[in-house]
Amino acid sequence: MLTGQEKIYRETNLGWVELITGCMFAGKTEEFIRRLRRHDYAKHNVIAFKPLIDQRYSVNSIASHSGTMLPSFPVASTSDIRNIFERENQKQKIDVVGIDEVQFLDPSIVDYIDELANQGIIVIVTGLDKDFKSQPFQNVDKLLPLAEFVEKLTAICHKCGNFANRTQRIINGQPAAADSPIVLVDGKDSYEARCRNCYKKPE
Ligand SMILES: [Zn+2]
Repeated sequence: MLTGQEKIYRETNLGWVELITGCMFAGKTEEFIRRLRRHDYAKHNVIAFKPLIDQRYSVNSIASHSGTMLPSFPVASTSDIRNIFERENQKQKIDVVGIDEVQFLDPSIVDYIDELANQGIIVIVTGLDKDFKSQPFQNVDKLLPLAEFVEKLTAICHKCGNFANRTQRIINGQPAAADSPIVLVDGKDSYEARCRNCYKKPE
């Protein structure tokens, strides 16, 4: 049973874009999986993608922090998504496309998401809105104005329990410097959700 809003969109064959954003530890992936499962229960044909770069994920399923799983395709680029979508859409018409961690994909993903929605596809996307320096993250900055629906989730500040909407990168127990390398070979960096009072701007 479709809700009124979905019924209008589906009967007129219009797609749309839903963006789930916020900082780390806000439950974006859990919300993403909840929305995709909801379409799956309704017998919509759902396909999900995630960038290969996210090492938390096992190869053929999406694992959230709480461990729920959903089948998905690991991809390196927007053209991978296009190829897999076209292949799967030939077999059976796709209704819903999910893309997790969109900030890790190349910038051409933004136009492709728009193109999918124009074809009548429901596109559900997650992404961090800011990096650890609190600068807007690529792709998410462009999807904010493009998406019909935006949900911004907050985490709980690891220090004080306030609403957190920033991600603090920690190296050796201290907030990382602005010029710290993006990938540390020994994996000694970690992340915490922080509120505006507890977040320290990297210098
Ligand atoms: Zn705090």
